[in-house]
Amino acid sequence: MYDYLIVGSGLYGSIFAREATNRGYKVLVLDKRNHIGGNVFTEQIEGIHCHKYGAHIFHTNNSKVWNYLQQFASFNRFTNSPIANYKGELYSLPFNMYTFNQMWGTITPEQALQKIEEQRKEITGTPKNLEEQAISLVGRDIYEKLIKGYTEKQWGRECRELPSFIIKRLPVRLTFDNNYFDALYQGIPIGGYTKMIENILDGIEVKLEEDYLLRKDYWNSQAKKIIYTGPIDAFYDYRYGALEYRSVTFETEILNCPNYQGNAAVNYTDRETPWTRIIEHKWFEFGKDNLGNELSKTIISKEYSSEWKLGDEPYYPVNDEKNSLLYQKYKTLADEEGTIIFGGRLGEYKYYDMDATVASVLNKCDEEL
Ligand code: FAD
Repeated sequence: MYDYLIVGSGLYGSIFAREATNRGYKVLVLDKRNHIGGNVFTEQIEGIHCHKYGAHIFHTNNSKVWNYLQQFASFNRFTNSPIANYKGELYSLPFNMYTFNQMWGTITPEQALQKIEEQRKEITGTPKNLEEQAISLVGRDIYEKLIKGYTEKQWGRECRELPSFIIKRLPVRLTFDNNYFDALYQGIPIGGYTKMIENILDGIEVKLEEDYLLRKDYWNSQAKKIIYTGPIDAFYDYRYGALEYRSVTFETEILNCPNYQGNAAVNYTDRETPWTRIIEHKWFEFGKDNLGNELSKTIISKEYSSEWKLGDEPYYPVNDEKNSLLYQKYKTLADEEGTIIFGGRLGEYKYYDMDATVASVLNKCDEEL
């Protein structure tokens, strides 16, 4: 008999398993996939650690989380500085003095601010939709070249048909600073995320390609308690209907050249290019393999925003009113379970960055163990 059966070997499940084991409990981890790590899984191809479920850049201001992870990985100095490609024109992101120089040739913060203020005036009343909201915050040029096409591809709808509340703020930096995340700590685990998860799960029993829901009663009889990090609606057999997600699809290619785009992430902000961005995985590790050798090939992933349907990989929860109400119904059922704990991004139907996932599971461990 196990003390804890943990469904899911993502960050949440793995850390729970580590902490329970350290505190003397007997645990078993199940995952329906053929690998550990959940969505942070990286696979080594041609010496490059590929982020199989989308680019994952660790960043946090939480020292407790950062120090905790240092036991399992050293992080490199990768800093996310994406580039926007609008019909062949390149712009620095997030919006900062480099971007304004590229857009208008402005040199000083005062000149850039004047340009933005001038263009914001176009919207006089309360913004009625996302387009008006964006222009009222940063002006038409930035909206047209850097926001419009990208947002329309992401949502599959015209900005004029999207509600204004989607964009609350658009940070504008009047400094020369391309560091996307304003975080105290940032980086990529050296050797890949999978190596970090292997270290977290070191010595712990893991069973892969095992779907807990297919043999729920059997597995429930094997442990005193269950930690479930799969989709909460699937646990209840979609009794009230399926929670919706936004999905992304990836098209990955190995290229016979050492450098395709010179940066880890390039966003395509025009409407015509069908993909939203291209990730070149080797630049998360400065183009080198584990031994520090330069690599002659490269791997790129084109990302496409796509509609989600049941059976697709669930990525981003849709936190609108309809889905929030539906989640509350499932949560009411979950709260009544005595021996099953729901956690992680799917179990709680919540978008969690990695650091928030770690913080959440560490709290749960303190509460539970
Ligand atoms: P998951 O990683 O999804 O793990 C859940 C596991 O449960 C999976 O392995 C699944 O196979 C397993 N499972 C589900 N159902 C069953 C079942 N019935 N039986 C057995 N196993 C089951 N965060 C950042 O901080 N920085 C980023 O740059 C970043 N980029 C992201 C990009 C994308 C496209 C997405 C979607 C997320 C990104 N995140 C990022 C967030 C990050 O992925 C999550 O914080 C983290 O993966 C959550 O871990 P988890 O353990 O909750 O879930």
